[in-house]
Amino acid sequence: MTDCIFCKIIAGNIPCAKIYEDDATLAFLDIGPCSDGHTLVIPKKHYETLDQCDPETMAAVGETLTNVALALVNALDIHGYNVVCNNGSQAGQEVPHLHFHIIPCKGNQKCVKLASQGQYAPGQMENIRKTIADALAR
Ligand code: AMP
Ligand code: ZN
Repeated sequence: MTDCIFCKIIAGNIPCAKIYEDDATLAFLDIGPCSDGHTLVIPKKHYETLDQCDPETMAAVGETLTNVALALVNALDIHGYNVVCNNGSQAGQEVPHLHFHIIPCKGNQKCVKLASQGQYAPGQMENIRKTIADALAR
């Protein structure tokens, strides 16, 4: 994707603060950190969202995510971390190249929380569960 900023980083046309790279994945510091060490893990193949990504690539991304998370825990004196993946503009995705944020929590630095949670009406949870499970079985 020639107009994708993350593809340009992968190609070396835009610099990044690289943490790790292998054949399938790249990890680098987010330029606008929520906290010190805020890292992005991306596949080198251009996919816009998680549901479009092939399982083999996601396995490689998962391995890099795990290794980088461990490095953050070992290297920084953090008290936890959030892994966030925004999919689609409605979900807040600004760069349309699949990426996972690893956001360390330290002291009173900003911490990611889910939007306010509600509850299902009677029967609604089972209807939604069945709809999703049926889609998966196809
Ligand atoms: P999202 O809202 O999930 O699409 O997040 C995109 C992230 O990419 C933001 O947190 C940006 O700060 C980050 N970002 C955008 N351009 C760059 C860049 N050139 N280098 C590092 N991070 C970037
Ligand atoms: Zn891309």
